[in-house]
Amino acid sequence: MSRKHNFSAGPAALPTAVLEQAQAEILDWQGRGLSVMEMSHRSAEYVSIATAAEQDLRDLLNISDEYAVLFLQGGATSQFAMVPVNMMGDKRCGAYINTGMWSTKAIKEAKRFGDVCLAASTEPESFTRAPSQAELQIDSNAAYLHYTTNETIGGVQFDYIPDAQGRPLVADMSSDILSAPMDVNNFELIYAGAQKNIGPAGITVVIVRKSLLGNPLPGMPTMYDYQVHAKADSMNNTPPTYSWYLAGLVFKWLKAQGGVAAIAEVNRRKSAKLYAAIDASGFYANPVAVNNRSIMNVPFTLVDSSLDAKFLAEAEAADLLNLQGHRSVGGMRASIYNAVSESSVDALVEFMAEFERRWG
Ligand SMILES: *Cc1c(COP(=O)(O)O)cnc(C)c1O
Repeated sequence: MSRKHNFSAGPAALPTAVLEQAQAEILDWQGRGLSVMEMSHRSAEYVSIATAAEQDLRDLLNISDEYAVLFLQGGATSQFAMVPVNMMGDKRCGAYINTGMWSTKAIKEAKRFGDVCLAASTEPESFTRAPSQAELQIDSNAAYLHYTTNETIGGVQFDYIPDAQGRPLVADMSSDILSAPMDVNNFELIYAGAQKNIGPAGITVVIVRKSLLGNPLPGMPTMYDYQVHAKADSMNNTPPTYSWYLAGLVFKWLKAQGGVAAIAEVNRRKSAKLYAAIDASGFYANPVAVNNRSIMNVPFTLVDSSLDAKFLAEAEAADLLNLQGHRSVGGMRASIYNAVSESSVDALVEFMAEFERRWG
């Protein structure tokens, strides 16, 4: 077996130990004589898998009983609609901070349901930083403030939690949930697609304050009402059972690593090594303001972009996969989520130095 270094932005690397456990259990889960994929979601066996996953996530993030934890389908992209549907209420207005492509998409979708007022946008600066609290202008009619904690494509991460000035704070944490400790109590609603830091694609975690449930816009589909899912323990219909199970294995793996605080130390070291290598060279560059550099997604360019294809080909030959930047920005991007080991980052840093020696 040879597992290569995988810097994919998503679906992203999963811990090898998790895949090995899934492999060991795939035909016969814990002596029951069937696969998790073949179980009824209503069976006692599967309900135990689902509730253990929820409890482990609650433990990892210290989520209190004031919050419902939902496991939904439709990806983070469906949350771009579910948030306004459930949060806009009579005000029919949401405030958004625009820091990149994912915030832009969330804004576009929210406009289908009401008004969007920008609290701040760094688009004129090509999304290379997050705005400061002092820059935020939140419309008094806004029912909530939405932001993206980590812009996966631009590699821009907030280094503070915005003060929504008395309104509910909503965060898309798809690409940095569980990467470092954060106090859930600062948020009314958190959502994250699984395929970056939680598990395989197909499931989306929503953490929502229970007191906010039950006020969706009229006429919306049943599946767009958080309260429906909260009341049904995310089993209003058949959930993506296998993705939920794998997410649970990832949560157990993360606990075994020492939890979120311990993995945050590793993440800080990994990202610091990569940014140091970029900054020390005149060959590679990262455009993001230093205090907003993402610890999960590290985009970088080569001074001579005609070398991009060669860089990617040689990286792949050196077992370093999926380093191509997003098609909208070009260049390179190394996504270094929790499951990407420090030794993978070391291998990348070594390759970058060697490539620069030959082509710089
Ligand atoms: C990946 C990503 C999304 C989209 O997730 P889907 O599950 O593909 O809908 C949204 N927001 C952020 C920050 C992401 O990284």
